[in-house]
Formats: sequence, C-alpha cells, structure tokens
Amino acid sequence: MRDSDEWRAIDARNLYAMDSWSDGFFSVNRHGHVCVRPIQDSELEIDIMEVVAAARAEGTSLPALIRFQDVIRSRVQRLNQTFREAVEEAGYESGYRGIFPIKVNQLQEVVAEVLEAGRQFDIGLECGSRAELLAALPLVTDQTLLLCNGVKDRSMLHLMLEAQRMGQQVLPVIEKYTEFEHLLELADESGIRPVLGVRVKLSTRGSGRWYESGGASSKFGLTVPELVSLLESLERRGWPDALQLLHFHLGSQIADIQVLRSAVREITRIYADLVLRGIPVRYLDVGGGLGVNYGEGSSDPDAAINYGLREYANVVVYAVKEICEEKQVAAPMLLSESGRALTAHHSMLVVPVLGVHRPDSPATGEVPTTADTPSVVTRLAAVLEDVGRCDRTGMLLESYHDIRELREEGEQLARLGYLTVGDIAAADSLYWSACREILRRLVAQAPDPVPPEQVELEEQLTDLYLGNFSVFHSIIDHWAIGQVFPVMPLHRLDRRPQRRARIVDLTCDSDGKIGRYVSSHANPSWLPLHEYHAGEPYFLGIFLVGAYQEILGDAHNLLGRVDEVHVYAREGEEGNFWIDKRLKGITVKEILNQVQYFPNDLDRRMSDFVRRQINAGHVKASDGMRWLNRYTRHLDDTTYCDTFSMEPE
Ligand code: PLP
Repeated sequence: MRDSDEWRAIDARNLYAMDSWSDGFFSVNRHGHVCVRPIQDSELEIDIMEVVAAARAEGTSLPALIRFQDVIRSRVQRLNQTFREAVEEAGYESGYRGIFPIKVNQLQEVVAEVLEAGRQFDIGLECGSRAELLAALPLVTDQTLLLCNGVKDRSMLHLMLEAQRMGQQVLPVIEKYTEFEHLLELADESGIRPVLGVRVKLSTRGSGRWYESGGASSKFGLTVPELVSLLESLERRGWPDALQLLHFHLGSQIADIQVLRSAVREITRIYADLVLRGIPVRYLDVGGGLGVNYGEGSSDPDAAINYGLREYANVVVYAVKEICEEKQVAAPMLLSESGRALTAHHSMLVVPVLGVHRPDSPATGEVPTTADTPSVVTRLAAVLEDVGRCDRTGMLLESYHDIRELREEGEQLARLGYLTVGDIAAADSLYWSACREILRRLVAQAPDPVPPEQVELEEQLTDLYLGNFSVFHSIIDHWAIGQVFPVMPLHRLDRRPQRRARIVDLTCDSDGKIGRYVSSHANPSWLPLHEYHAGEPYFLGIFLVGAYQEILGDAHNLLGRVDEVHVYAREGEEGNFWIDKRLKGITVKEILNQVQYFPNDLDRRMSDFVRRQINAGHVKASDGMRWLNRYTRHLDDTTYCDTFSMEPE
C-alpha cells in the first residue's frame, strides 16, 4: 500500500465498503472518525469517538457496547412505513402490522424502544419460551398482539388462555398437534373459549444459512393433514372462528426473495381454501427472515441477500393480493415477525487494540555470516541479496519458491539438532526479510491476475491485532456459522491504513479470531488497519451486532457481558447526543459465582494461605496483607483487560 497519494474520508468509506452495510446510518466525518446519523430523515450526526470519550469519562470501561436507541426507532419506522406504502400502492384492503420477536434482543430497553416507536403502527410482540412469555405479558396492552410461538407446555397454554380471558390479544401459535389437544382440554376445564394460530409446514424450503427452519422437515409446524384434522375438531365444536392466524417461518436471513414469494403464495392458497370452507382466518403471518446486509456480498456473493426492504414488502403484499383476488376471498391482515432487520444496526462494539504480533518480527535482514555459518543460512542470505536486484514477476516468484524450500530444509535440520538457536534465528530472520521484499516488489509490479504466491505471502505477512474482546461473547455467530460482521477503525480514517491485519481476541482459543472481513479489496481474510503504536489508543468498531449476538454469546474463558451505554441523539446537546444509561458489564465476582466459586470462600482460602505464609516467616506480614487486599479488589473488576492501564497517563 502506498502512502504518498492523497487519502480522504471517502476513501476510507470505500475501503471498508461502508455503503454495502451501513444502511445510511454510519459514515466517516472530516476528522476521520466514524459517525452515525441515527435519526431517519435527519442530518443530525454523532461522532462515535466523542461518545467513547464521554462514556469513558463517566467510568465505562472498554470493550463497550454502544446502543444508538434512535436507530431502533428509525428501523421500526422504515419497516412499517415501507409496508404501508406497498399496501397503499397495491390497494391492499387489509393492512399490515409488524410483530417484534423478542428472542432477537430481549433487553428491556430494546423491547421498550421497539414498542414505543411502533405504537403508531400497532406493532406487536412474539415470544418463544416461558421466560419470554412472562417478560412480554406485562408489556402488551389490550391493543397489542402477542404471538406465542415455540414449544408450549400445559402451564404456558393455561397462562395464555387466562390472558385471553383478561382481554389480552394473546395468540398461542400451535407448533405441535399435542399443543392443540392440550389447549382444548384446558379450554374445557376452564370454560374459556380459545383463539389460536397455527404454524404450517410448507413444502417451500428456506434459503440462506437457516434454510432448515422452513420446509417439510422443519422442526416446528403442523403438516397439512394435521391442519385439516385441527379444523375438523374446531368445526365439530362449532368454533370455526377460533383459528385466527396462519403462520410460516422460513428461517432467519432469507437470501433469495423468490423463495419467500413461493412460500407466501403457498400459504395464501391454504388461507383462501380455509376462508372458502368457512374459517374466517384474520391474520396471515409470514414470519421472520427479512435479511440484513452485512456487506458480505463484497466477500462472499453466496451469503448476500438479493433484495431490499421495499422489494420484500412488495413481494408479500402483491403475492397475497393476487391469490386472494384469484380465489375471490377477502384479504387477511398481514403480519411479519422481522427481528434482525429491526435491531441489527442499533448496536456496535468498541474494541481497543492491546497489541500487535508481527510474524516477521524481529526480521532485521542483516545476518553476519562466518565460515561456520550453516549452508542453509548462507543460501538464504544469497537469495535475499538476489531479490534486491529482481525486477520481473517470474524471478520474484522463483525466489519465493527457493526461500520456501530453504525454510523447510532449515526446519528439518533444526529438528535433527544440526542448527543452534542462533542459526535458527538467523534463518528465520532472513526468510521473513526475503518474504517482505518479494511481496513489496510484487505489489509494485501489480501482476494481473494476482499469482497465488502473492496471496500466500500476504496471508503470511499479516499482523495479528489483539483486540480486548471475546469473539465467543460478542459475535458468536462469526465463530458458530461464519457470519461476517463489518469491522473497521473508529478513528485515524483521514490517513491511509498501511498494515494488513487479522484481529484476534483475548481467549486462549485458536478460533478466537475474526477470519473474514468486509472491505473493498479482493482478499477477505485480512483487513487493512493503521500502524499500531504501543500506548496510543487505537479503537476498532464491530458493527451490526444488535440482533441475536448479545443473548447467544457465551462466557468462554469467563469473559462475560461488557459495559454498555445507551445513547440518544439530540440537537443542542454537546456532540448532538446524551447518554441515557450506563450498564456495568459482569464483574469477575459475578461470573465466578455462576460457576460455583463464591467470593467469601475464595477470600477465606486466600486469607488462610497468606496467614500460613506469614506465620511460617516466608513473607512479611505487610506484604502478605497488601497482596491479599489486591486479590480481593480485583474480584470487582471487569472480566476483560483494563484498557486504561495500558494507555499512557
Ligand atoms: N419468528 C420466528 C418463529 C423465528 O424463529 C425467528 C427467528 O429465527 C424470527 C421470527 C425472527 O427472524 P428474523 O430475526 O430473521 O427476522
């Protein structure tokens, strides 16, 4: 990478492919900092580095999660307005309501923000377990639809029935036939006439990573024969209007819009047949799956979604309308359970870099040779000298092949004990110096196509940037299913990033790394970053982590929940923002508690040990007590490294 030519904010935006994932929220300002415009149709801009500074000044430690609450509001508005436009344009008679599946992010403040922003659109909630049901029930008014998916035992069904009696619009969505049988039994016992929905197993299979959530072999839903038997049972009781909702779910992050179209058509045909049979189903629920662009298209076209929000809404509205018109039945109220699309953008993780490991360091290239120097070392030195005179791609590649072979020979000799530690260090140093020089010259020549050796050299000469975070806690989908999250520096973007980098986390696990990046250059396995100078803060942002990551994240190496700040944009406030809430992450003491180490017990054991050492005369009493105090104090620390202590005073 050359330093000489001019570098502007727009270059940074392009380099990190921000247009492919930022959805208009994130950009780079004139200070070279990442900024956010969280409010829909407003130019109000917040410099994320100012938020970081303000949060730190108030005692937030890093890594930290920043939630831009207005982004949730903007996404809720955009989804609902887009559906309203599609409904209006199509002349669709029965409207649309969004349903927020709280499994995506159950944090009370997130759900409250969604409900508040969605009130004017009659947004509803979806829950998928007992705990989610108990969290959601107090949040819904008698106007709010609450859909209950997931496996339901008798006590949960009972609670739902009672909620219906209380006037709440709670709809159990039958996933298994036995749930329906239990519901009827409970209805008979309690004298409550139930209303319910049904998830249908369609023949259309999903598309994308979660394709198995849809289709005939999916885990949940009733088959069509089961649906018919449920209808017959309701008809026998004279309760045809008990069935209020039909639902399908194709899986999260639907990649191909044609798959959605085909599923919507399939369920609408079933809906129309039911209506013609005299079952007045009110709602047609197309489930979740509205995709989010993580910028993956720039590194992996197969992982990208092939539609936008407006196309998604159009497909749902027009497909249902066409079939209802064809079958001459009244159209249902449309529901979608979009979760990821509402929350992914609103939160980001601030990750301080703690250090850098260079595979080629120290590589001085100056290795004095003597008559005793082993031949493998002198031959490496000779190749390095030749490389300095190479100006043709072919010659450079040949030199690379030579040093690779010499390296292997050196490793073999070392294993057999023929090389001293000094010889090994010399061979290593010469190898890396030659690699660096060959790559520098290849890049200058810009061969097209890029030879595989150049890609290999780039990979070998990639620095490891140690980030103060845990992949397993904060972006577990990256580890588990290869989900790519956009990552970029939060500052210094007025300067060209000069280093090839791979980001690794704090865990002692070789999987604790970010292996794929979103950027505009061809190789997604590394990310351009700025030179790291020890003691100088360098902060990275991991974006679009607001859906699923927080609740799925685990505590590998006992690295747990990070500190977080909730930010609102407001004109007139310093920096155009104010911090509504600061939540402390989990402390060492709390996380140890979860694995059955209790602070009192730990303290007592430590104290017994220290006293024994003092009594035996191994340490001075004052040293022993100071050490004991230090140990106890650290139990209240965050589980991550202390970024402050690694920066200059
Ligand atoms: N509805 C159901 C039944 C789900 O299982 C899920 C999650 O996969 C969702 C909605 C939310 O999906 P998404 O976040 O992709 O919109």
